[in-house]
Amino acid sequence: MALTGLEIFKLLPKTNCKKCGMPTCLAFAMQLAQKRAKLEDCPDVSDEAKEKLAAAAAPPMQKVVFGTGDNQVQLGQETVIFRHEEKFYSPTVLAATVSDKLTGDDLKKRIDAVNSLHFERVGTKIGVRAVAVTNDSGESEPFVQAAAAVKDAGDPPLILVTDSAEAMAAAVAKVSDSVPLLASATPETAEAMAKIAKENNCPLVAKAESIEALSELSEKIKAQGVEDIVLSLDGLSIRDQLFNLSRIRVLSLKKVFRPLGYPTISFVADGDSDEQTAVATSLICKYSGIVVVDTVEPHAFLPMLTAVMNIYSDPQKPVQVEPKVYPIGEPNADSPVMFTTNFSLTYYTVESDVEASRIPSYILVVDTEGTSVLTAYSGDKLNEKTVADAMTKNGIEDLVKHRKLIIPGYVAVMSGKLEEATNWEIMVGPRECSMLPKYLQEVWK
Ligand code: SF4
Repeated sequence: MALTGLEIFKLLPKTNCKKCGMPTCLAFAMQLAQKRAKLEDCPDVSDEAKEKLAAAAAPPMQKVVFGTGDNQVQLGQETVIFRHEEKFYSPTVLAATVSDKLTGDDLKKRIDAVNSLHFERVGTKIGVRAVAVTNDSGESEPFVQAAAAVKDAGDPPLILVTDSAEAMAAAVAKVSDSVPLLASATPETAEAMAKIAKENNCPLVAKAESIEALSELSEKIKAQGVEDIVLSLDGLSIRDQLFNLSRIRVLSLKKVFRPLGYPTISFVADGDSDEQTAVATSLICKYSGIVVVDTVEPHAFLPMLTAVMNIYSDPQKPVQVEPKVYPIGEPNADSPVMFTTNFSLTYYTVESDVEASRIPSYILVVDTEGTSVLTAYSGDKLNEKTVADAMTKNGIEDLVKHRKLIIPGYVAVMSGKLEEATNWEIMVGPRECSMLPKYLQEVWK
């Protein structure tokens, strides 16, 4: 629990020496409680007090990482229940399974299928971020072989999934330098699994069927020296999972209940790929740090990844592209010039429609602070001056011989003033950019 001002005061030297810049120790304690002062500002605070205060100031949800190098993934450290309160920090990691029952070509095919689950959406690369090797064989050797095969095929962040401490120890011995996430310790295997995690410096999943059992288990694992823990609710319906994941979030962030102050992982194995997509997307929304699915269908992954992308963007900061001129194809001095705004979704929609026209063009992206055409126009971020300035700044006059500018149909109303501001002929384009290919092919001359 976070300490109150009075609780902090009790830990201070109480000499009122003013070295911290405050008139009294009590005033300093109140500032500290409100996170408006730093403990280091008091030079006389004891080591014991420092330790207690540092523990109280620790983030309510632990950061957990696994994987190495560029492939390392980070979980946890969330601070809010609802995205609009600030933003969510650690995007849900989507993982796909590789069963250790697969061998030879089948194993290779599955690994290739998992590794190909990467896409580009509005200029951002998204994709599967971890591979969960599952010990479906129930034996150690196939588990070791499958984990090694996944590691050799690109060394992605690994999740080793087995309830057998023996199989876990064998697989970790083979891939420990990849810093895998070990899933999972149950109340029965906690001691053995925690030992493996501690010896190999790997994070460990604690798995139980209720919040109460989970908090006891995380404490037990922590007492054995494992700090990096991920929580897993086992054997619950999707309704109960969502309910309890929400409770964990509230208890960890609002009540700062340390035994539940860890990120979570969920496993989705039932149903076809469409059902898994629906369940996984619900779990992404509330509030799984990792979702492991048992499908490698690209059509199933893309909506899940899109959900992650949308939920984990900053609601106060629209996704933007750099304001500049974008050549589409290989335009020349006779190519059309059009403008749009730097709202990412708007730009990439226009870009793909211009590409579809097969007419090399220039798209001038005007800085409207990431807002769409109509929003920017109504907020006066898109007007004849901002467009004319963007044209000058980006040297549009030097790119083409003609003086014709295509503008979005929705802002046809600005054509008169824009013509005066630029001395260019203004051509009003279609309202919907899906009509751009037809417009460029038939109207552009
Ligand atoms: S520096 Fe420390 S001891 Fe001195 S007044 Fe501030 S809090 Fe109290």
